[in-house]
Amino acid sequence: MPVLGLGTWRMGENGRRRADELDALKHGVEIGYPMIDTAEMYGDGNAEEIVGDAIAGLTQRPYIVSKVYPHNATRAGTIAACERSLKRLGIERIDLYLLHWRGNAPLEETFEAFHRLREAGKIADFGVSNFDRDDMEDAARFDRGLTGSNQVLYCLSRRGPEFDLIPWMRKRSIPLMAYSPLDQGSLLRKPALGKLAGEIGCTPAQLCLAWLLAQPGVVTIPKSASRERVEENLGALEIKLTPAIMSELDRTFPPPKRKQPLEML
Ligand code: NAP
Repeated sequence: MPVLGLGTWRMGENGRRRADELDALKHGVEIGYPMIDTAEMYGDGNAEEIVGDAIAGLTQRPYIVSKVYPHNATRAGTIAACERSLKRLGIERIDLYLLHWRGNAPLEETFEAFHRLREAGKIADFGVSNFDRDDMEDAARFDRGLTGSNQVLYCLSRRGPEFDLIPWMRKRSIPLMAYSPLDQGSLLRKPALGKLAGEIGCTPAQLCLAWLLAQPGVVTIPKSASRERVEENLGALEIKLTPAIMSELDRTFPPPKRKQPLEML
């Protein structure tokens, strides 16, 4: 799985912003982002359509991640939702299909549908989102080989997953996809982060992303509807953080000392 992708939450919600959103995604793909994350929820399907427009006609398209709503995640509902997503995206196969969060549909049914979709070639792999360690234990019990990913809220200012979720996933080689890596932009306003980024010679956003990318088994999906920021964020791949900087970040944003409930946006 690629380590850095483009997020699309809040895209497709306002028609007046569509042109900028499409431009940012197209530009991101042109400059080499290898992955786009979306969901049937975003803009009520409009975000998937914008992604579809951004990748239309490409001979080599990026890795596409999408998600099924929990209220659609029954055996038949998951298959129908996936088919709608494929149509909006204009592709024949979703590379990674996730259960957006755990709802009332039995996990067994969702996973059965995921297996059927994979056998039919409509998805390449599947996974979950917003699952804490106990949910992951349940998923591992029901499923025959959950390897796709668990997409969770994880960034410098929200390090809860480090306590027990990340070690659990790492042991099983399941990648963690960190969403809201910039804490939706609020992290970037922290003066300590700005100061450290200035010392390293990068931007605060690049520092947040480089910190995530420095961790084994962690991938991330920052969202921006601006082509300049999309470029800036890609620059995080070039930044190598020294042990001294990692320690300074630990002092500024301490890791969790005890288990915390998984945060979700
Ligand atoms: P985020 O990526 O942490 O932050 C996005 C915000 O930061 C936007 O307001 C964006 O503004 C701004 N931004 C981006 N790059 C910037 C830069 N270089 N400098 C300054 N500001 C910058 O938040 P997110 O969108 O919540 O999370 C990323 C993706 O994760 C989502 O888009 C979605 O695909 C996924 N996600 C999944 C779940 C889930 O439940 N599975 C939940 C939340 C998010 P502009 O657009 O104006 O640049």
